Amino acid sequence: MFIKEGIIASPGIVIAKSLVYEKIQLEVNKNKINDTEAEIVKFQNAVKHSHQQLEAIRIKAISELGEEEGAIFEAHAMVLDDPEFVEGVEAEINNNHLAADYAVKIVTDRFFDIFDQMDDPYFSARAADIKDVGSRVLQNILGIVQADLSQLEEDVIIIADDLTPSDTAQMDKKRVMGFATNIGSRTSHTAIMARSLEIPAVLGLGDITKTVKNGDLMVVNGLTGKVCVNPSDEQLQSYEKEKQKYQDYLKELEALKDLEAITLDGRKVELVGNIGEPNDVAGILKNGGVGVGLYRTEFLYMNSDVMPSEEKQFAAYRSVLEAFPNGPVIIRTLDIGGDKKLPYLPMDDELNPFLGLRAIRLCFKEVGLFKIQLRAILRASVYGQAHIMFPMISSITEVRQAKAILLDCMKELDQEQLPYDKTVKVGVMIEIPSAAIAADIIAKEVDFFSIGTNDLCQYTLAVDRMNQEVSYLYDPFNPAILRLIKQVTATSEKKDNFFTGMCGEMAGDPLAAILLLGLGLYEFSMSALSIPQIKKIIRSVTYEDAKKIADAALNMETGEEIMDFVQKSMKKLNLDI
Ligand code: PEP
Ligand code: MG
Repeated sequence: MFIKEGIIASPGIVIAKSLVYEKIQLEVNKNKINDTEAEIVKFQNAVKHSHQQLEAIRIKAISELGEEEGAIFEAHAMVLDDPEFVEGVEAEINNNHLAADYAVKIVTDRFFDIFDQMDDPYFSARAADIKDVGSRVLQNILGIVQADLSQLEEDVIIIADDLTPSDTAQMDKKRVMGFATNIGSRTSHTAIMARSLEIPAVLGLGDITKTVKNGDLMVVNGLTGKVCVNPSDEQLQSYEKEKQKYQDYLKELEALKDLEAITLDGRKVELVGNIGEPNDVAGILKNGGVGVGLYRTEFLYMNSDVMPSEEKQFAAYRSVLEAFPNGPVIIRTLDIGGDKKLPYLPMDDELNPFLGLRAIRLCFKEVGLFKIQLRAILRASVYGQAHIMFPMISSITEVRQAKAILLDCMKELDQEQLPYDKTVKVGVMIEIPSAAIAADIIAKEVDFFSIGTNDLCQYTLAVDRMNQEVSYLYDPFNPAILRLIKQVTATSEKKDNFFTGMCGEMAGDPLAAILLLGLGLYEFSMSALSIPQIKKIIRSVTYEDAKKIADAALNMETGEEIMDFVQKSMKKLNLDI
């Protein structure tokens, strides 16, 4: 028996036999060839074969997992058709007389390196796609067939170095009960896949493929990040108990799905979800969210090779609005810049991109682009309760400038006799300290605030949100952050028909829920999976108690002290998280 600890990627506890999925290493040597034509044919046949395989996997993925997973394989097929890839390989064969397998390897590696070096998660995911496609073509050139996971005899936990989209799409989902891998992070494909299949996963275990044998009994505990191999009877019993407890807890959460987010003494709040694309709406509905608190529209732009047209945007916004006939949908205007770039919009390198031409600042520079988006949102606004939200606002002047452009768009639509909701709500993200401090001034121009703690922490504490070296300073519980939040909610309480929400990660943190409630937050927007747990907490306290807890926290000196205090307060209220 032994226990190892890794990264929690998907919650839950599973006990099952292990299946070690080791891929055959693809041996490729730098062989020179004379018959370049024959080598090109070999490559082209492998590409054709790969296309056929990808189409079959795409169909299976759509029927078992949905459109979004199917789209991964469309993207793979696009790599196969990419002239830079195809011509790159053919040039290596023709010009350098390289064998097809070696040519594929070096061109794939070259592409992989370019994308892998980008910080943005979207482009890192593209790097993984390229690697996956490259090894598929290589296998087809070399005539190698990998182990088949599509038909399994019994329930298993998959043990692997890492899992690619092709691996997971082909898997026999009825039999795969969990994942444990050597590498991977919370945002890697394996993690995302495990969460969408709702199976426990622990990743980043280092050498789990070396230490576990096929058929070993294993426990993967996606709540603690521990895996236990060949547990003793006593351990097994205790894991079984823990598993049961977790299942009971899930049932309890499930039962809350259609209930309101209301405190014991009757204060109602709104629990809504953050989305990156229309498909994410399903998760919010499934978890009992009543609307969208943050639609990060930049993904619509980033997932496209050309600027998305007004029609394309209109269709996307409309579909989200129609999913929530009775709930708000907050559409954030383009937040590009910082670490996010668009391939079709040239931008100069900046010394401090997070302090540079980002979000609303870029939209003011590219007014044409901004207006296309505003027109699309306005036109979609007749299909639900659209709210327009401007990101990276630092002063009232910017709000006025943005609203003036919005008004221009409204006039254009009037002239064109295109309908839109004339009472559409307009709000801003409070994510720059100056906006939080001057919230009372900014409130005059808008209908709502949404606090973006991800950036508010970054800018208030002067901590790069992506720099591991200083991540210890990145603390939403820091008293300075709590005071800013209080200042914003206190301001908003003074204005009628106005609300303050939060769409930063803090809104979905179970430890922060009571504090935020007590600080007067009305709307909590988070990743869909967090909604049930936050609802349970809200429904288990009184607003009066939450206010007392928040007031006491506001007088404390450090983030640790505050967190410790909240934890103890929650224990007293019998809130086990
Ligand atoms: C935030 O800054 O808190 C936020 C929600 O926006 P993003 O994470 O997209 O910057
Ligand atoms: Mg932000």
